[in-house]
Amino acid sequence: MQGVAKLYRVGEETVHALRGVDLAIGANELVAVMGPSGSGKSTLMNILGCLDVPTSGRYRLDGRDVAALSQADLAQVRGRRIGFVFQTFELLARQTALRNVELPMIYSGASASQRKRRAVEALERVGLGDRMGHRPNQMSGGQRQRVAIARAIVQRPALLLADEPTGNLDTQTGEEILDLFADLHREGQTIVVVTHEPDVAARCRRIVRIRDGRVESDECREP
Ligand code: ADP
Ligand code: ADP
Repeated sequence: MQGVAKLYRVGEETVHALRGVDLAIGANELVAVMGPSGSGKSTLMNILGCLDVPTSGRYRLDGRDVAALSQADLAQVRGRRIGFVFQTFELLARQTALRNVELPMIYSGASASQRKRRAVEALERVGLGDRMGHRPNQMSGGQRQRVAIARAIVQRPALLLADEPTGNLDTQTGEEILDLFADLHREGQTIVVVTHEPDVAARCRRIVRIRDGRVESDECREP
């Protein structure tokens, strides 16, 4: 991102959600984004995740300028190149784990058997090979978040974005999810985690702090 600004107009007022953010995230980084409520984290995530475009400035993902894309092209980049993990899992309640993970591939051009094979692989990768036929209400919170992670990685996204991924989990289960992120990172996955929790940020080598729509600090620590 170079000079990324985002304005929201609310009636007569203009809200400066981001005020010129420069941020370069390399392949295979594991980055925590922290900051107080209202500082611009969600706005930053929405732009990183191609859910929204900046008002001004540049955003390149995979070397491709996405700041200028149409909504349709943006949706395609988002669907193919970004994986999302949320605090509340956001699984389809009536569908099995397998169906939940197959879903993002519906428009991918992959055949039904390819979709199934990839979904099975992703579920095995997160340790749920024996839960594929279960629905979310038959699983624990940690298992549900694993399904969500399998869904997020099934298309091998350039960027995995996680918004408070352990916010609804107890400490032990949260640790297991962070261990899984660490494993995926070791295998080369680029991951950005938004979190309020210092314990979560401490698991990331790089911590970017946002305040008042600006990058307040950007620190790398030795692992
Ligand atoms: P969090 O603090 O968990 O990041 P927020 O409460 O800031 O969540 O935002 C929740 C959602 O509401 C986001 O999608 C955000 O874009 C939207 N939102 C936040 N503030 C406003 C606002 N003033 N007007 C309209 N939508 C807003
Ligand atoms: P955070 O995620 O750090 O809580 P946000 O990105 O949600 O911060 O919000 C940054 C600022 O932009 C806040 O002042 C918020 O009220 C405002 N904002 C966020 N989304 C919207 C929106 N859709 N419409 C209007 N204002 C918004």
